[in-house]
Amino acid sequence: MLDAGGKDKILLFEKAREITDLNIDNKVYLRGLIEYSNVCIKDCLYCGIRKSNKNTERYTLSDEDFFQSAIYALEHNYGSIAIQAGERTDKVYISKISHLLKEIKKLSQGKLGITLSLGEQTLDTYQKWFEAGAHRYLLRIETSNKELYSKIHPNNDLHNFDKRLEALQNIRKAGFQLGTGVMIGLPHQTIKNLADDLLFMKALDVDMVGMGPYIEHPETPLFEAQHLLKTPKQRLDLTFKMIASLRILMKDINIVAATALQAIDKMGREKAIGYGANIMMPNITPTNFKKNYKLYPNKPCIDENTEECGLCIDTKMNLIGSQIGYNEWGDSKHFTNSKV
Ligand code: SAM
Ligand code: SF4
Repeated sequence: MLDAGGKDKILLFEKAREITDLNIDNKVYLRGLIEYSNVCIKDCLYCGIRKSNKNTERYTLSDEDFFQSAIYALEHNYGSIAIQAGERTDKVYISKISHLLKEIKKLSQGKLGITLSLGEQTLDTYQKWFEAGAHRYLLRIETSNKELYSKIHPNNDLHNFDKRLEALQNIRKAGFQLGTGVMIGLPHQTIKNLADDLLFMKALDVDMVGMGPYIEHPETPLFEAQHLLKTPKQRLDLTFKMIASLRILMKDINIVAATALQAIDKMGREKAIGYGANIMMPNITPTNFKKNYKLYPNKPCIDENTEECGLCIDTKMNLIGSQIGYNEWGDSKHFTNSKV
């Protein structure tokens, strides 16, 4: 399916859309994305905010800025927020996140759903954050191929494939809806690797997936392998096919229309919704910090304020005939169905 072209590609997209309409309401759910901090202890070879990138101006949102973003999501009926950041595992940070989670729960009177994407932590930390009020956790495996994983990460204890697998199990153990995902179009990645990624997600029985195109960043070591890359347009097309194929494989999970799609095609996320995705993550980070959370070049909306960004999403969703599930958590049906 991943090398489908012409008629086969059209069939693939039509089938994915049909399955989405049958199994998920024709609704797109929002997670207001708060990029809480770009401080990171890790050095993933592809990421613009990796520890060793000295050109990145580091920040962590103040509590006030953070709560203002959460209140923005609440007042604009987003239903949920997603908190994303570089990885930190120190005690002060763990307690800070627990505190913020409890406060959001209080200030929204439990109305805001919370997804976390804060990297690899211990089971104890995952449990603390679950108890503090978060209920979905996204940790991409990045690639399910151990050999490829070692080519895109430093080979040390902090970037260990088996530990990442263990972290995914611990997220589930702690009670979270489990999300994972991969980057598409990495150097050295084959179509077979991507097909295996889909089977990996199915075997792990995940509740949600966020996957998007790899975009090379000139201030990272993996940029050296840029001559091996498919064109951005090919990576975009491959991502659409991955989304459509996954929708056929896993009918009732949540699939994110990743922000990186928009870095290649202005309508990339909206197109992904048409091919089986059902989650959008409008960026509600305060405008003056967005430019410093730069994982890759061409990051969309960095100069727009949150209000402008939100407006364009509404208009685009109307254009493609999808409805936004305002004020709903939009939990993974795969998760809720498994609890019945
Ligand atoms: N630090 C946490 C982690 O790694 O899980 C969460 C934040 S991290 C920035 C979120 C995701 O950004 C990663 O899982 C990775 O897939 C993606 N990412 C980083 N650099 C990228 C790049 N150059 N192109 C596309 N996606 C990238
Ligand atoms: Fe840090 Fe996540 Fe970037 Fe890796 S992908 S360097 S853990 S922010």
